[in-house]
Amino acid sequence: MSTTGFVDNIAKITLSTPYAVGDVNVYLIKGDVLSLVDAGPLTDTAWAQLTGALASLGYSAGDIEQIILTHHHPDHAGMLQRFSESVKIVGHKYNQFWINRDEYFHQVYDRFFYELGLESGLPEAFLSAIPKFKSPLKYMGNRNLDDAIKEGDTLPGLSEWKVIETLGHAQSHLSFYRESDGVMIAGDHILAHISPNPIIEPPFDGGTERSKPLLQYNDSLKKLMHIPISSAYTGHGKEVEDVHALIPKRLVKQEERAEAVLGMLQGKQQTVFDICKLLFPSVYKKELGLTLSETIGQLDYLESIGSIRKEKQDNAYYYHA
Ligand SMILES: [Zn+2]
Repeated sequence: MSTTGFVDNIAKITLSTPYAVGDVNVYLIKGDVLSLVDAGPLTDTAWAQLTGALASLGYSAGDIEQIILTHHHPDHAGMLQRFSESVKIVGHKYNQFWINRDEYFHQVYDRFFYELGLESGLPEAFLSAIPKFKSPLKYMGNRNLDDAIKEGDTLPGLSEWKVIETLGHAQSHLSFYRESDGVMIAGDHILAHISPNPIIEPPFDGGTERSKPLLQYNDSLKKLMHIPISSAYTGHGKEVEDVHALIPKRLVKQEERAEAVLGMLQGKQQTVFDICKLLFPSVYKKELGLTLSETIGQLDYLESIGSIRKEKQDNAYYYHA
């Protein structure tokens, strides 16, 4: 694929993915430690593209000293084990569960999504499709997280770069910010052409409460309004030059979606699955996990502003206005 070459010590490298989202961007950053932000999906095609792009920049994969993850999704955290053992993997501590999948991971994951399916009112035929939620994981890396970073930290070996926690799209999502010129590497937190899905994830920290990713996401968007950002490099597609103009538009669009969901609840009670079918009639079967996440996000939002309530009957939640 392609690289733009270095601009202020950052080179954008675009790789293809096997996912509907299309290409993913990873970034080579020069500093005291040569760093790659994100690692593309675990495919031979992406590896050939990455090594080709590195060569055109005058480097090889063996020159990379650390990989810093914006989040654990397989299009971003795939090719970790293709790098030598000496390459440090750096990211939010929550990455560890996903990139180092063990027995505990599968236990928590399977139980969580089965229960979520019951609570969402999924019929038996759809409950049995839940194991398919894990199929994208085949392009996800399998490697230990070496260095956990958090809000306010400086990136190791990159003293100009600060860590900003931007949870929502993933429970591990971080963005990286260079104060001197206001450049941000925003992962999937901000994208020029789409809103990222607020994906539901199991709590791997031993808790039982699920997070509310759309509410987290909105908070993480609002957080960026207080930071002077000159330009944001994104995980997919082109840069966002005016982040502060885009954020209010995204928030309004989400409110409009929620309004539509509220309309579906006027005069009748519905399960998550009922609403999901109404919102995504042509894709809910094929993309059950993603469409359920999006639906639950809107319902969490309406609940948070007091527009709707839910009640449990048998195993499922019924929502009403
Ligand atoms: Zn993602």
